This record gives sequence, structure tokens and C-alpha cells, in this order.
Amino acid sequence: MTTYLLQQKNWQSQLSDLITEPAELLEQLALQPDQLLSGALLASQQFKLRVPRAFVEKMQLANPLDPLLLQVLPHHLELEEHPDFVTDPLGEEAANQLAGVLHKYSSRFLLTLTGACAVHCRYCFRRHFPYQENLPKNEDWPNIRDYLLEHPAINEVILSGGDPLTLSDRKLSLWLDRLESLEQINTLRIHSRVPIVIPERINDEFLALFKGRRFKVVLVVHSNHAAELDDFTCSQLLRVAQQGIFLLNQAVLLKGVNDNVQSLVQLSQRLFSANVMPYYLHVLDKVKGAQHFDLPAATVDVLYQQLLASLPGYLVPKLVREIAGEPNKTPLYGLKSD
Ligand SMILES: *Cc1c(COP(=O)(O)O)cnc(C)c1O
Ligand code: SF4
Repeated sequence: MTTYLLQQKNWQSQLSDLITEPAELLEQLALQPDQLLSGALLASQQFKLRVPRAFVEKMQLANPLDPLLLQVLPHHLELEEHPDFVTDPLGEEAANQLAGVLHKYSSRFLLTLTGACAVHCRYCFRRHFPYQENLPKNEDWPNIRDYLLEHPAINEVILSGGDPLTLSDRKLSLWLDRLESLEQINTLRIHSRVPIVIPERINDEFLALFKGRRFKVVLVVHSNHAAELDDFTCSQLLRVAQQGIFLLNQAVLLKGVNDNVQSLVQLSQRLFSANVMPYYLHVLDKVKGAQHFDLPAATVDVLYQQLLASLPGYLVPKLVREIAGEPNKTPLYGLKSD
């Protein structure tokens, strides 16, 4: 029994034992399959259900509107067509010069080492992006290095994805060593949802990867709701912070999930208790299949005003939208002039 539990706790075995069948997810949550299931089965043909059991354990039983469940359960509304919602809203295919890299923002360079994620978030703007054909291999490193050397303004490399923390520590270590060998890189950033959905990913071996590095390390996690941050998850994040790694969070504003001021306030407070600073609050990217998470601009405006009035300034994430072709994420607050 003990051995079995220990095996379940290991992050690699959790990653290979994800829930991928809508019926199983509903059963785990004591939900009646009926309409939920038929919509889910259709929508999951486009973008598969994928969720770690540790994340499902944070959901409420018998609540079809659980804010964590809504983020991962395929929904029949995903199949509705809407002219404003497209497959590549950020124009990333055009920005893709070398295998696995995106250089859209002058000083920052995004490196995609894997297309895989531990969880499939239904609102994700990458749900249609053809990552699998486009990943850098070891033999691509010389080209990437040359590109970085030819662009000395780049001082930060972002490992993104997919989710880079689905990779083995061995593979991460190889890429960290490569990037550390370039003097111009003074910051290494990792964007990952894994610490939230499989908090066991944070272990001694993982933390050791960052010991004694020349560059500053920033870990940007992705949590949209305080219920994702249970005590164990927060204690794991605190371990990361104690290692001298800067912790930030990005969230997406999602209808039905966190579109009320209490949820957003609790999220910021809970993050702060784990030494994670709220960084971005993204409005939804207009990606095909995610229409049902969208909120009217006026609602977003009111919510953000309420958030500003409820929290100290340092706990208010920046409200942003990503606009194709812009040299940075576009702030949505404080730009209005009359
Ligand atoms: C969001 C993003 C970054 C990082 O932007 P920051 O504003 O520094 O967080 C870098 N490259 C790409 C392609 C991005 O989408
Ligand atoms: S890239 Fe991030 S938001 Fe998108 S599916 Fe993966 S974990 Fe979710």
C-alpha cells in the first residue's frame, strides 16, 4: 500500500497516468454523465482532454460548475463557429523563424522545447498550433546559438511550450548549460503550469538544477483560481522561492471561472502567501473554440476597477492583451485618454 502511494506521488508516474477520458473525469467527480458527456466527447476530438489526477483532487465533488473543472472539461460550445475567433490569433506561425523559437519581443527570446503539456486548458491559444513539427533538437543548438549571438539585445531566454517542466531534469539541465554559456543571457525564465497541476514536480533534483547558476532564474506559474493553490502546492512554491528563484503568476480572465472580484482577490492573496507575485492577468485570446470563456470589454473594465480598489498595488496583476505584431503585451488599463 505504501509503495503504491509513493509511486503515485512521483511526478513522472503522474504525468503518464493522466485522465484523458471525459467519462472517467465525470465519474471521479461524482457527476452525472448525460449532456456533459456527449458535448465533451465531441469537443475532445478537436483538443483532447488531459488532466493530472492531483489537479482533479482539488475540484469539488458533484459540482458541474467547479472553476477548475470548467478549465479542463471539453464543452460542446467549443464547436460553435464565430468569425472573431480564429486558429492563430497571435500570428505566431508567421513569427516562427527557427525550429522552436519565437523572437517577437526585442530583448526576450522564447524557446519551445516541447509541445506537450501536463494539462490541456480549453481556452489555450496554442490549442491549434502545430508544435510537434517544430521543436529544436540537439543538433539545432548551433543555429540557435548563432541567432542569439547575432541578436545581442536578447538578454533573457524564456522556456515555454507546451510546458517545459514536462521535460526530464536531464534535458532541462542540458539546455540550461547551453544557455548559461552565452554571456549575454542574464535571465532565464520558465513558463509552466506544472507546479500547479503536479506540485510534486518540485523536488530536490529539480531545485538542484538552478543552484549556482550565473543567471537570474524566474519561474512564471499559471494559476487562475485560489482553489488551485492548496497547502501542499503553496509549500512547494515556497521551496522554489527559498532557492532564490523569482516567482510570478500569470492568469487568464475566464467567464465562469474567475470573473468576479472575490475570486481575483483571493487568487492574489493566496499567491502572495506562497511568495508568488501576480504578474499578468490576460484577457482571453480570441482563439477558435474558446468563445464561451469570453467577457464583454465593459465587464472586464468594471472587474479590474474593483480589483484595483480591493488590493494593495503590488498584488494587482497587469491587465494585458496580446495583439499580433505589437512589440510587447498591450496594457489595457490607464491608456484611455479623453
Ligand atoms: C509573452 C511573451 C514574451 C514575454 O513577454 P513579457 O512581457 O516579458 O512577459 C516573450 N515572447 C513571446 C512570444 C511572448 O508571447
Ligand atoms: S500551454 Fe499552458 S495554458 Fe496552454 S494548454 Fe499548456 S498548460 Fe494550458
